[in-house]
Amino acid sequence: MAAKKKAKPASGSTAASAVCERCGGYGYYLDEGNIARPCDCGMYEQVVRRGSRVRNSGIPVRFMDKELDTFQHQKGDRTRAQIVQAARAYARSFRKDESEGLLLRGKPGSGKTHIAVGILKEVLRRGFTGHYTNFNDLLSRLRDSYNRGSLESEAELLAEMEESDLLVLDDVGAESATNWVRDRLYLIVNRRYESARALLVTTNCGEEQLRAHVGERTASRLYEMCSQDFPLFPDQDYRLANLR
Ligand SMILES: [Zn+2]
Repeated sequence: MAAKKKAKPASGSTAASAVCERCGGYGYYLDEGNIARPCDCGMYEQVVRRGSRVRNSGIPVRFMDKELDTFQHQKGDRTRAQIVQAARAYARSFRKDESEGLLLRGKPGSGKTHIAVGILKEVLRRGFTGHYTNFNDLLSRLRDSYNRGSLESEAELLAEMEESDLLVLDDVGAESATNWVRDRLYLIVNRRYESARALLVTTNCGEEQLRAHVGERTASRLYEMCSQDFPLFPDQDYRLANLR
């Protein structure tokens, strides 16, 4: 290997490697009286923004504590270890506007939402924007938006699904497949496709089942946008196993 030249900073990260001496990059430092003070290096604002991104991401309270680190509950559980590894690799290499999406497949209760939320939180911590929505909940909100006096319009909801760098669409395929539902899903998927934004879909359906459920045009978009290389989630009920 050729001798290493002086390392060039990665494009776009101007002096990002210089960690603040006062707060060590945490945004806070302890003063003489051991009281935490916000640092004026700019990190404090970043930390607050990232925190509020997580709070505003739509992740339900019951999933808020889900992290990639807490998924593998038994030592030597190779399938779960592989899932966590793949999830981490995805979150770490996530890039705006060119990130491939993911399709997480497995039986109900196998932990897909946990991993989807874990990935989303990692991506948010890296400074990207992201949004979580359960597909059935979204459909209810869309239906409600047609009511007179509704606080949100369908256009606003669809725009919300388009905005963020990463959208998690949880549990696609559990809804009843009407033409209206299929059209809404297509609108969401296709808009993200056209604006080259990543989509993470979880589903209990196998490939053919999903194709039949969401329709051919949505399925082919989904398969084009989302990598299917992610390990299949194990069969045993993760929620039950977690209760033991
Ligand atoms: Zn600082």
